[in-house]
Amino acid sequence: AEEVGGGDKEVVREYFNGNGFDRWKKIYGETDDVNKVQLDIRIGHSKTVDNVMKLLTEEKSLEGVTVCDAGCGTGLLSIPLAKQGAIVSASDISAAMVAEAQQKAKEELADSAVQPKFEVRDLESLDGLYNTVVCLDVLIHYPQNKADAMIAHLASLAEERLILSFAPKTFYYDILKRIGELFPGPSKATRAYLHAEEDIERALQKVGWKVKNRGLVTTQFYFSRMIEAVPA
Ligand code: SAM
Repeated sequence: AEEVGGGDKEVVREYFNGNGFDRWKKIYGETDDVNKVQLDIRIGHSKTVDNVMKLLTEEKSLEGVTVCDAGCGTGLLSIPLAKQGAIVSASDISAAMVAEAQQKAKEELADSAVQPKFEVRDLESLDGLYNTVVCLDVLIHYPQNKADAMIAHLASLAEERLILSFAPKTFYYDILKRIGELFPGPSKATRAYLHAEEDIERALQKVGWKVKNRGLVTTQFYFSRMIEAVPA
């Protein structure tokens, strides 16, 4: 039987434990050995993280709030969340990513901070209930027919809010042309899935959620639509 995430999932896992890990670790890191494209993506992505942190802290404190960071990568969101006192459950399909995130959290978080709980898990196997579920820049690995189930699952784990970011279809041509080579698969460009905002919204509505806030970050090579959803 085909799993949620598709046969693509094995390809994605291998990619982010191999070549993809090296590439994205660099992009998401701090070292100078990046090219112009990688640096641009690093900057764009950090804006998405900043926007999410702003959204999550502007109304009330994160102290003691449970947050699931699904597809946590190198921990660029999990660590600032923990700094703000959130109880973070962070997971990723890639063991290499999780190890990197865990290492960075150890280095960057003060002894007094609650360390995120890191796990190697694909997001379909996540369970439990969290105040907030966040899933940044992971939907690019899901075709729309798999994205619906993925969104429904993430919403089922969230009590108050769900924050997603994805590459919007409006920039289809730009994204595939400019950064296609950063995605896994034999025909690399075809392995990056962009999503129409209406499709994401419809998937949320189907499970009783509505969009409360939207954000958009675009740089030369990075495009990401952020959506905050709440129970309708
Ligand atoms: N969310 C992180 C961030 O914004 O810094 C990382 C984004 S990175 C572009 C995509 C991440 O999604 C990779 O670390 C990859 O291993 C992970 N991923 C892809 N498919 C996944 C799945 N089905 N379940 C869990 N993680 C997945």
